[in-house]
Amino acid sequence: MKCPVCSRNAEGPKCPCGADLHFYAQMHYLPDILYNEALLFIKRQEWQSAAQSLAAAWTLRPHDAGVLKLWAHALQQTGDIEGALDKAGLALEITPSDKALEAWFEELAQVCGDKMYRLSNKMANGIAEYIREATLQSVKQIVAERR
Ligand SMILES: [Zn+2]
Repeated sequence: MKCPVCSRNAEGPKCPCGADLHFYAQMHYLPDILYNEALLFIKRQEWQSAAQSLAAAWTLRPHDAGVLKLWAHALQQTGDIEGALDKAGLALEITPSDKALEAWFEELAQVCGDKMYRLSNKMANGIAEYIREATLQSVKQIVAERR
């Protein structure tokens, strides 16, 4: 690890220049610790906890495609497809040549699209029903007024 004070390579928690690197080392390796923690959660299929660890790792290492991909995977397992799509998309921005990632991203987008389509269909049907009811009401009112 490079000492932030003198830029020398320090082996232990104390640099030859006298700097105490204990806390710095902890911060330096925290994303790795969180990532490994997430892997353990995934092994136990604790997807929500894994997603939380990866979210924390990502805030410390926002340009790590590996963190983003694993985060997307964990989110997909929790059923948060929109979240998975979002993280996979961010990972794809970092590694645009990753074909497997691209295929997975498109698959997630397809699932999200289908979900949105069903939702909008449901909404359209709801609106159509509302308009039909309202029209029926005003027709009844007009008929009643003419009597
Ligand atoms: Zn130093």
